[in-house]
Amino acid sequence: MTATIIDGKACAAKLRRQVAAHVARLNTDHGITPGLAVVLVGEDPVSQVYVRSKGKMTVEVGMHSIRHQLDADTSKADLLALIDQMNADSSVHGILVQLPLPKHLDEHLVINAIDPAKDVDGFHISNVGLLGTGQKSMVPCTPLGCLMLLRDHLGVLDGLGAVVIGRSNIVGKPMAQLLLNDNCTVTIAHSQTRDLPGVVRRADVVVAAVGRPGMVRSDWIKPGATVIDVGIKGGTRLTGDVDFEGAVAVAGAITPVPGGVGPMTIACLLANTVIACCRANGLPEPGGLTT
Ligand code: NDP
Repeated sequence: MTATIIDGKACAAKLRRQVAAHVARLNTDHGITPGLAVVLVGEDPVSQVYVRSKGKMTVEVGMHSIRHQLDADTSKADLLALIDQMNADSSVHGILVQLPLPKHLDEHLVINAIDPAKDVDGFHISNVGLLGTGQKSMVPCTPLGCLMLLRDHLGVLDGLGAVVIGRSNIVGKPMAQLLLNDNCTVTIAHSQTRDLPGVVRRADVVVAAVGRPGMVRSDWIKPGATVIDVGIKGGTRLTGDVDFEGAVAVAGAITPVPGGVGPMTIACLLANTVIACCRANGLPEPGGLTT
């Protein structure tokens, strides 16, 4: 048996085309251009690459891209003042503060200063609470991308056993919440989980979000399971959390690294920005771009 390779690149390209079409309609019908502001504090090279790539794709789908590059020693007061200014600016529909922040800045405080309606990363405590109670929210981009890939491949997820390995606020927890909202029976595994191979072996859907290359071995995977590999590690050659070569012979479907979840993350960020723009202007939200 050879697993179907879930083509995240193609799925993301399709999503970006849908976003671009909606942006074009917003422009022609309402004279509105969605705007996404990205704030980078400091000069972390990996963050710089992400921010550049986000800016490029924002422009490609016809949206307005605003970039704020701040010094690594920017004070809390200055960063909060910039967030206040963007919260009040009606041409900015989405605000993203690139993480991680330098140690002297409290990430929770900074994220919670963003207007939840403009929090396109979905990390604001209000959005976390809305997602947790099954209400309309901004959904974190990486788990949203994983959910879209799963739905695209499996259709409805009702009743499936899902294991999410990792419990971060950015990936693991919101992923588990989304799967639960889609009627999966969800297990969240982490570094203290006992018999992780046994836990994974019971799952129809495996989402690995750890950051340990090749940690999930092929003999952990239930034959026919759908495997979503969020993990990325490495510089020039990126590696996922799953032993891809082995897993391909056991799983029903699997995302590659690179070319799986990664491209979906940015596409979902663009989708969230269009959704935020529609909500801000009292316009109907684009179909197919949301959960
Ligand atoms: P974190 O480091 O915040 O979380 C990692 C999680 O893995 C923790 O919950 C940790 O458990 C768990 N873990 C660590 N070791 C083990 C182990 N031996 N067995 C089981 N669980 C373990 O990472 P993130 O959630 O931010 O990211 C996870 C991965 O996804 C990273 O590789 C990151 O680069 C990648 N990523 C990819 C994105 C994409 O677009 N493709 C976007 C975001 C992230 P504990 O809580 O107990 O410490």
